[in-house]
Amino acid sequence: MAEIDLSPKNAIVLGVADEKSLAYTIAKKLGMAGANLIIGYQLRNEAKITHIRNEINADFLPFDVMDDDLSEEFFKQVSERFGKIDYLVHSIAFTKRETLKGSLVDTTKENYILANDVSVFSLPFIVQKFQSIMNENSSIIALTFMERVFPNYNVMGICKAGLNASIRYLANDLGERQIRVNGISAGPVPTSAAGAIDTFPKMLEAYEKKSPLKRNITSEEVANTALFLLSDLSKGITGQIIYVDAGYSVMGL
Ligand code: NAP
Repeated sequence: MAEIDLSPKNAIVLGVADEKSLAYTIAKKLGMAGANLIIGYQLRNEAKITHIRNEINADFLPFDVMDDDLSEEFFKQVSERFGKIDYLVHSIAFTKRETLKGSLVDTTKENYILANDVSVFSLPFIVQKFQSIMNENSSIIALTFMERVFPNYNVMGICKAGLNASIRYLANDLGERQIRVNGISAGPVPTSAAGAIDTFPKMLEAYEKKSPLKRNITSEEVANTALFLLSDLSKGITGQIIYVDAGYSVMGL
């Protein structure tokens, strides 16, 4: 099988919390493909990533998009260690658990803003910080979800719609420099973030039953698509949301 050779590209992966994280599988594959890696993780996950540190050859740096000092230190360290970067993976989302039940109409303004701050604004924010050190022909991807109504997903559905629009605007902003921005709209994968959605098992059931492939997708399949979108194999693609969802999104009934 032909493998993608990403040496000696410099990649930043944000959002590794544990071995179930989509960002973990993406980082692992990037490392296997020869990319130099810096992984951003939340300090609260320090214990959970101990073995990942031994497994993936990368620099691990604390990063919290809501912590200005830590973020600045992260951006400084990336600049110093890498100089220039080629790939950026945004795999970050957060909302208070209480928003992932009941209805959107019950969401407080505070919780609405917090979810959008971490899950949407984080993308243009990170791009703002990194754009001056991004090489021509570099590629940015963000993990997103389809824009249909799923019970309990609530404010995260709003966030993903905003993230998808941000991907398109950023693609236009950065296109002249041949920097591409795309999204992967993944079907449900059991991760820590997904586990916070009360009806997540029902989502898994629905995809298995209704998708053309009659199954759920794997984090491996998401990571393979990430490598394609980061690499020059997808050089003509930008501003797109690519569905890795066993085809669920094309179905009516
Ligand atoms: P995950 O492992 O929980 O990843 C989410 C990551 O975001 C965690 O590392 C989390 O850290 C981090 N994060 C939260 N707040 C942050 C902050 N303030 N600053 C920096 N990082 C922060 O779950 P995942 O499923 O892999 O999620 C990754 C992305 O894929 C998300 O955008 C998610 O919406 C998207 N996605 C997931 C699925 C799915 O079914 N799993 C489907 C479609 C799209 P903490 O754990 O410490 O909060």
